[in-house]
Amino acid sequence: MFIRIILLLLGLISAVSAAVESPKKPNIILILADDAGYADFSFQGSQVFQTPNIDRIAETGVRFQQAYVSAAVCGPSRAGLITGKYQQKFGFEENNVPGYMSKSGTTGDDMGLPVDEKTIADYLKPLGYRTAILGKWHLGNADRFHPLNRGFDEFYGFRGGARSYFPFSENNPNHHLTENFLERNFGSYAETSRYLTDALADEAVAFVKRNRSNPFFLYLSFNAVHAPMDALPEDIQAFPTLSGNRQKVAAMTRALDRGVGKLLSTLDELQLTENTLLVFTNDNGGPTDHNASNNYPLSGTKATHLEGGIRVPFLMSWPKKLPKNISYNHPIITLDLLPTFYYAAGGKESLPEDIDGVNLLPFIQGIAKTKPHETLYWKKENRGAIRDGDWKLLRFPDRPAELYNLSVDVGESNNLALKHPDKLAALYKKLFQWELNLERPRWQLKREYEGKAMQRMDEYRTPKTPEAVH
Ligand code: CA
Repeated sequence: MFIRIILLLLGLISAVSAAVESPKKPNIILILADDAGYADFSFQGSQVFQTPNIDRIAETGVRFQQAYVSAAVCGPSRAGLITGKYQQKFGFEENNVPGYMSKSGTTGDDMGLPVDEKTIADYLKPLGYRTAILGKWHLGNADRFHPLNRGFDEFYGFRGGARSYFPFSENNPNHHLTENFLERNFGSYAETSRYLTDALADEAVAFVKRNRSNPFFLYLSFNAVHAPMDALPEDIQAFPTLSGNRQKVAAMTRALDRGVGKLLSTLDELQLTENTLLVFTNDNGGPTDHNASNNYPLSGTKATHLEGGIRVPFLMSWPKKLPKNISYNHPIITLDLLPTFYYAAGGKESLPEDIDGVNLLPFIQGIAKTKPHETLYWKKENRGAIRDGDWKLLRFPDRPAELYNLSVDVGESNNLALKHPDKLAALYKKLFQWELNLERPRWQLKREYEGKAMQRMDEYRTPKTPEAVH
């Protein structure tokens, strides 16, 4: 009897000490929207696009006022995000896959995230995480680039960059791109009969329910609100004062918010919210010309290095560890997600030196008093940009560079290049210095497309105005 009591006490002591030594790892969820406008959420100030569910993440967490992506288009932005490195360092530069290439270069399905680059999932899996990506992949179509070969345990989505939100018919000749069919894990075709945004949200809910008792990393990669402009009639009808693609993008955003709401409710029901680190962001600025998105008060559009191409809505919540309903005002970049997630998950090793992101948690918690980044860089072929403090330089192949002070000119309307030639020269040099560390691009766009990017910048330079409340 006495021995049994001793054993019982010893068991209790070891259970208590285990709980003290290894607190439960947080779940980690990354929700990525696609091509959303900077202004097109109510937490970003929209009076017309109401996103009450996504707004809840802001209310229970941190809203970042100056969050950037590392590229102004989908694929490279995702390559940077998932590796924590400027994607130009490994030649995922600077265009979407599949792209076009010069004679000696990579072509077709050989384009993808190089297999020796580690993803967020590669880092989290050894820490005991069940990992899944649901939705858009866009980091290579060949099997060796497939999510299940890149650290993910589960995949339900499509490998390409865009697809219909409605079910594909195998008899429809327009739907012949097999890589864009929905796949459940490796290669097996599992087209849904549902509107895709709702289907992805339901898959997310099911994944969370299956993994309620173990730590998980869920990368919920909605293709909403990327073209094609497919929306459900009931969502369209919710915006009677809008018309055309503006009405459709509002409807698609409504479905996105509904999907996020389902996921948040599931976390609440399972009492997982408190210890879930959740990020909501978007992969590049809104292509105002393609999906009628609105980047107000930023100028420019997707594919440009003006703020409207690279600055994105960004929310992070983790009720157990982070303050609620606050703003964070220093610049951050989606490259920071990998180190932030790794250390939140209990990672103990130093990350490789070529990782450019930093762990944001001590900055948000006020433990680190400096800024996460003094300088950020962007490059797409000959175009480039650098942000150093509040100064930003944009470099072009066909005209003089431009210089802005973002602290007083977020809309980039007052070019200070002639007023501050020394600052211009210093930033130009710093941008060149960074470029010395980069690989040659593995593929490129055809010249005609690059030219179109410049036209696009000129055409969509003036910020739109927000809609009036009706
Ligand atoms: Ca995108």
